[in-house]
Amino acid sequence: METKQIIQRTTSEVLFKQSKTYFPGGVNSPVRAFKSVEGTPLFIKKGDGCRIWDEDNNEFIDFCCSWGPLILGHNHPSVYHKVVETLQNGSSFGAPTRLENELAELILSRNPFIDKLRFTSSGTEAVMSALRMARGYTGRDLIIKFEGCYHGHSDALLVKAGSGLVTFGESSSAGVPEKVANDTLVLPLNDLDALEACVANYKNAIACAIIEPIPANNGLLLQDKAFLTKLREICTREGILLFFDEVISGFRVAFSGAAEYYGISPDIVTYGKIIGGGLPVGAYGARNEIMAMISPDGPVYQAGTLSGNPVAMAAGIAQLTECAKPGFYDSLEEKTSYFVSAINSYAENKNYPFELVTVGSIFWLSFNGKKRIQKADQIDPDMSHFKVMHRELLDRGVYLGPSGYEVGFVSAAHTEKDLAFAATAFCEVLDIVFGN
Ligand SMILES: *Cc1c(COP(=O)(O)O)cnc(C)c1O
Repeated sequence: METKQIIQRTTSEVLFKQSKTYFPGGVNSPVRAFKSVEGTPLFIKKGDGCRIWDEDNNEFIDFCCSWGPLILGHNHPSVYHKVVETLQNGSSFGAPTRLENELAELILSRNPFIDKLRFTSSGTEAVMSALRMARGYTGRDLIIKFEGCYHGHSDALLVKAGSGLVTFGESSSAGVPEKVANDTLVLPLNDLDALEACVANYKNAIACAIIEPIPANNGLLLQDKAFLTKLREICTREGILLFFDEVISGFRVAFSGAAEYYGISPDIVTYGKIIGGGLPVGAYGARNEIMAMISPDGPVYQAGTLSGNPVAMAAGIAQLTECAKPGFYDSLEEKTSYFVSAINSYAENKNYPFELVTVGSIFWLSFNGKKRIQKADQIDPDMSHFKVMHRELLDRGVYLGPSGYEVGFVSAAHTEKDLAFAATAFCEVLDIVFGN
């Protein structure tokens, strides 16, 4: 079966030409520009279930799912109805609503290691605020970050490893002062020796260690459980707060995220993406004594005009209510594993140096030919195979995020039939990429 049908891009091309006169690169978030795959971004008109349609009416099975938030797919009836019902009573008050309590109860009742939350409007904002809280609580300025983890675009976290053996970070974006970057210590993932050396060096000066316990923003760099367990021990021993940034893994690999998946309790956690049901929501949480630092209870200031927005809360409540149903994650994982193993066994039989790396309902296209990639610098920077793969999949009605460093997501709306179709397209495209 040949699934190829070249897609028409005329309308997207016109819109992209216009949008470039309005926004840098034509977009409001850089990866959307299709720069790394050298194409024209598709302007999306609508989504329903696991499908999206662009302005030229091409239809795609969507594995980007808005970069993770849409674990129920597009337009899920319960999310849709709850949002519409809420919106009928107004869109924002800047005053408390019962919806905030309801979403908090859903989250807190299943995450025993945190007592309180604060809602924000994005993951970046949640992480940035929680970092301030960690510094306020410990009275320490330095933070540890791991190379290959993404924590949003706040200054302190747009930092990469410095040259040589120094752990002081260097800014990874223009406009981030070196003074700020120098307070971030950057360590390789999965490296206990580097971690021990760092904490010995900066004793009593490190406020927190922030990590994506399932690093999924720069490939899928699955860590050894032993590394995360040891990180927990070292943090406890040194009075360093362990900060799990679960903006992508939270409610994705399990309802209680990587903390549940690995059975490790962080001191601080951040959420985003899925908790907003497709609307802008982030959150940070911790035990009572840490959260007591936050204004108006404590001296760490943090606020938001649209924080806890009722419409966004409604979407989150509806979505998490579905996720909390028994068997939700089992069935999502089962489907994903069926999809992933179909493609992986095909690639293995043909000896292609390719595999889908996977956890839960996340998958990543790895062209590295070897199984366990656990550090950022182990990823082959040559993305030419991905580029072909991305284009050929689009031509077959399969939409992936336009970057080889990004992961894909299976949603509850993907049926076995959709996944079988997509798997066939993947296999055809693998033959094109690897030439037989
Ligand atoms: C997406 C993401 C962020 C940033 O969230 P935004 O809502 O894009 O600001 C932070 N941390 C992690 C782990 C993420 O995946």
